[in-house]
Amino acid sequence: MDIDTLEDLAKELKNDENENVLALFEEYAKTNNMKEEELEQILSKKYDCFKCESCNKFYCYDEYSYFDEECIYCCDTDAEEEEEY
Ligand SMILES: [Zn+2]
Repeated sequence: MDIDTLEDLAKELKNDENENVLALFEEYAKTNNMKEEELEQILSKKYDCFKCESCNKFYCYDEYSYFDEECIYCCDTDAEEEEEY
C-alpha cells in the first residue's frame, strides 16, 4: 500500500477494509515528522476525515459528531445505554 499524499492517507483511513487505520495514521505522522494532533487537524479540515476518540477509526463528516468528538456509531451506542435506565 503506497501512501504518498494526505489525500491517499485520508482515503485509506476511511476504508473499511483497512484494519489498523490508527497505525497508518501514526506511521504517516512519524514518517512526515508531524505531530499527530496536527495531522488530525489537517485531515479534518481539508480531507473530510475525522478521528473518533472512542473507537479510533476515521470517518467522513456525515458520520462524525463534532460535539461529541465521536463517530455517530459510538454516539448511538452511548444513547442506547442511557435509555436502559
Ligand atoms: Zn467511533
